[in-house]
Amino acid sequence: MKLNEIITKDKACFMNTFGARTPVCFEVGKGINLWDTEGRRYVDFFSGIAVSALGHGHPALVEAIKTQAEKLLHCSNLYYIETQARLAEAIVNRTCADKVFFSNSGAEANEGAIKLARIYFKKKGRQNKYEIISLDKSFHGRTLATVAATGQKKYSDPYAPLLPSFVHVPLNDLEALENAITDKTCAVMLEPIQGESGVFPADPDYLKGVREVCDKHGILLILDEIQTGIGRTGKFLACEHYDVKPDIFTLAKALGGGVPIGAVCATESVASAFEPGDHGSTFGGNPLSCAAGLAVLKALDDENLVENAELMGTYFRERLLALSIKNPCISAVRGKGLMIGVQLHTGNAKEIKDKCFENGYLIGNVGTDILRILPPLIVTKSDIDGFIALLGKILGE
Ligand SMILES: *Cc1c(COP(=O)(O)O)cnc(C)c1O
Repeated sequence: MKLNEIITKDKACFMNTFGARTPVCFEVGKGINLWDTEGRRYVDFFSGIAVSALGHGHPALVEAIKTQAEKLLHCSNLYYIETQARLAEAIVNRTCADKVFFSNSGAEANEGAIKLARIYFKKKGRQNKYEIISLDKSFHGRTLATVAATGQKKYSDPYAPLLPSFVHVPLNDLEALENAITDKTCAVMLEPIQGESGVFPADPDYLKGVREVCDKHGILLILDEIQTGIGRTGKFLACEHYDVKPDIFTLAKALGGGVPIGAVCATESVASAFEPGDHGSTFGGNPLSCAAGLAVLKALDDENLVENAELMGTYFRERLLALSIKNPCISAVRGKGLMIGVQLHTGNAKEIKDKCFENGYLIGNVGTDILRILPPLIVTKSDIDGFIALLGKILGE
């Protein structure tokens, strides 16, 4: 189908929640490259918002999905599922979690985390502990509970009255956090590096301090690693950079390499609050999505992609910093590994993103001041050099 026909159908039949999308429809992907319906090639420095960690059409992932599809797609969580048990074990082996529950998306994983934090205290007879402290400018998803957790009014205001008992405090202000804790607080929930609002990392001392404050007050620490997890920042989980262990963390985005899957992961003492009947999902952790998850984790190991994210991230930021010396419109380069935010003070982030697109490179922007760069973890130095050359040219104009 031609692009204009697709756009006409979309406008006629699809709810207009995404506004004017970039006028392109991708048809095929291979590695870091995508091709659109008109046969034009693009280099993907956005990974479908940190999802396509292995790039596109990764042979081992495609093979795993094909093989599982031929065997069995779905059977319900009323029965035991081999790929689910194996993926849960693979996550437990790599992290501080003892138990895992699979969902279909990030927001749904965070819903599970919020439910788990509440039921944990309910089962201890602490009926009044249900409040969650999260951060200004955070992003935790689009369901009713997760928009209430999200510290951005543009996502929650249209849906008032919201689920009560979410409190927001500024990032990297430990005193504000501690002051917000009451008898009702059950958990603190945050992203180690805020992604959606423009790549804002938690300070190392802050995150360590949050852990200490949670311990001191006997409340849970929930880390939303939906975007930062699965190697994106150069460690399997971003919290490893901080040497902080959460009680609960959530995964999604890259976990299935493009197949929808999320996970709530917790230590044994917290996870055991979920008892038969307390939580569930029809699709969550089905044979297909877990086969994809297993293939993603195996490819991360086989190809040293977490280490590659660390090395390429360092190289990328060095090249961006060098560019910022020549181009003073860049005021800061933030992030870790391959989760990168470029702060501009010229207010033309969208124009720069659009120019990159015109030249066959995909990146993101946050408002008018921030470029958001999330290449697949397979990215190479020469891919980065290609992007830097283009960005230098655009900024020089
Ligand atoms: C993307 C994202 C979510 C929401 O995930 P969905 O799969 O879109 O529901 C939640 N938290 C963070 C940090 C995210 O980046």
